[in-house]
Amino acid sequence: MEENTYILDILSGLGLAINEKNNSEIVINYPINFDKKTMKFVIDSNYKITFQQLGCFLSDFLNADFNEYADFLNFFTKYSLSLLNYNKLKKVFKNGYCTEETFKDFVLDLQTKNKNLLNKLQEQIDMILDYCLLNPTKKAEGYKPIERLYVLRRISPNLTILNENKSAYYSTNLFSSYPGSTEKDIYEFLSKKKNEVIEYDLILPYDLSSIIYKSICSILKEFLYLKSCKNCNKYFIATNKAYNYCQNIAPGETIKTCRDIGRKATFENTKASNPVLDLYYKTYNRKSMMKSRYPDIPKYVNDFNKFKETGKKKIKQYKTNKLSAEEFKNWIEKNS
Ligand SMILES: [Zn+2]
Repeated sequence: MEENTYILDILSGLGLAINEKNNSEIVINYPINFDKKTMKFVIDSNYKITFQQLGCFLSDFLNADFNEYADFLNFFTKYSLSLLNYNKLKKVFKNGYCTEETFKDFVLDLQTKNKNLLNKLQEQIDMILDYCLLNPTKKAEGYKPIERLYVLRRISPNLTILNENKSAYYSTNLFSSYPGSTEKDIYEFLSKKKNEVIEYDLILPYDLSSIIYKSICSILKEFLYLKSCKNCNKYFIATNKAYNYCQNIAPGETIKTCRDIGRKATFENTKASNPVLDLYYKTYNRKSMMKSRYPDIPKYVNDFNKFKETGKKKIKQYKTNKLSAEEFKNWIEKNS
């Protein structure tokens, strides 16, 4: 079977590409599965191609806590080639499989090697979204999110995502199957209705920064929306600004998605304003403002960062009923 060159290029890169025409992401990996009979991990030598909405990589990336083994493993299973090339990966699986211990040691080692970089990239994304979208400074308020990004890039050479992303543009036409080799063959091939030519405009990222950068641009241009699900609190990509719930299976449920649950919940409390969350966001905004006003005073910078970091966890606990409104309020007041 003849292989499409674009697939080979994706495979020799990060296993990721963006199709600009339809805002989709192409993910290619070699599936790794646990075989319960032999109790071993098996790698499939045939690659698998997945198409998903542009931005899904970014939301998966933001949702992962790379310090947690389970989260790292999840991310690695889906995007293995973004962290390691296939030849290195293949070596872990002698004759296509490896024991549980070998696999765990390998993943732990990979996690140790990568987590600092991944955490740093996450921090940068937080800062970029904060500046461009969530908490623009007074100066930036009258401008579009994407314009704020251009400003941020100029004033923040340390944000490597904005300044060091590299990718290749790739435009190619593919036939839906082998069209033959002569001019006559190819026209004949096209004359049959089922056969067609597909045009691909692909972006092939050379590094994680470039796929992150492209996704951020699409969000800031409002081609798509990065939202945090009002039920499970995880990031998701919405094609409509009005969507507030993700379509993953809701925590503690087996079939119902957050969106199923959300419809009901929204109906029940008809968006009754929530005084604790209101207090949280007021405090958050005040601290964020102080940070951007006095970026050279570590007290304000650290204070905001700490509040935001812990705040994320508190909100999650609160929304999943692990923290009462009273406890959450006390925490906010103690730290405001
Ligand atoms: Zn959700």
